[in-house]
Amino acid sequence: MHLSVVSPRPVTATNETRDLKTMRVELLNSSMPPSDLQFLVSFLVNDAVAVDAGALGLLADLRRQQRVKHVFITHEHLDHIATLPIFLENVYEPGPDSVEVLATPDVLHFLHGDMFNGRVWPDFMELSRPSDAFMSMTAIEPLKPIVRAGLTITPVPVSHGVDTMGLVVDDGTTAVAFPSDTGPTQHFWQHLAAIDRLKAVFLEVSFPQSHAALASLTGHLCPTTFAAEVAKLPGSLARGIRWIVVHRKARYAAEIANELGGLGLANMELVRPGHVYEL
Ligand SMILES: [Zn+2]
Ligand SMILES: [Zn+2]
Repeated sequence: MHLSVVSPRPVTATNETRDLKTMRVELLNSSMPPSDLQFLVSFLVNDAVAVDAGALGLLADLRRQQRVKHVFITHEHLDHIATLPIFLENVYEPGPDSVEVLATPDVLHFLHGDMFNGRVWPDFMELSRPSDAFMSMTAIEPLKPIVRAGLTITPVPVSHGVDTMGLVVDDGTTAVAFPSDTGPTQHFWQHLAAIDRLKAVFLEVSFPQSHAALASLTGHLCPTTFAAEVAKLPGSLARGIRWIVVHRKARYAAEIANELGGLGLANMELVRPGHVYEL
């Protein structure tokens, strides 16, 4: 007798395909013991690419550090670069393969002159040889996409106290935006408006309303200016875009959370450091 069997395979294959395509994003913990307080900035994307290196060198699982081969630095502020030297030290192995640090030419220049200068830390550039390298440096340019670890990463300028690149990370199915530190800005949102597969924006709120003037002066956001930035990306609620709040200055974290809660933004949530977002 011939039996007709309905195979579940196609469904399984579809799920597998979707699972494989999920982008995993984690804001690394930067407090001891781990908490929701954020002192430093570093995101891991798919455990392969880092966005900033504030806490990267503190990961207790050294194998996770060793899997990170590309580190993008959005700007030179210390909370974004603090453990870059520690990280490079941790993952160094003799041989030609080394970590690639990607940033604008200015930021690469600052890293060399102010961090890897032979005083604060050894001059890893000077010490690197093609056969035995501590690090390599790659210049990034605004709006020029660069492909690393299967991800297309596009630097888009934002408005901070120093020149800063937001980053848009796209795997072809999902795009996630990291505006880094920014005050009110324009071009970044215009760039995102055209990206249908945008799933999440990790946007900063550094100060509470009581420090709105200081936020404005230093190129950061407070709750009301955060809401105004969200409004610059029309239809984000209907598009299911998650606005994930990062970079709350620790001493104002609760105050900022209360004020954000009062704004009633349906698609806004506070980041959970150490949580892996599957997007
Ligand atoms: Zn900054
Ligand atoms: Zn910062």
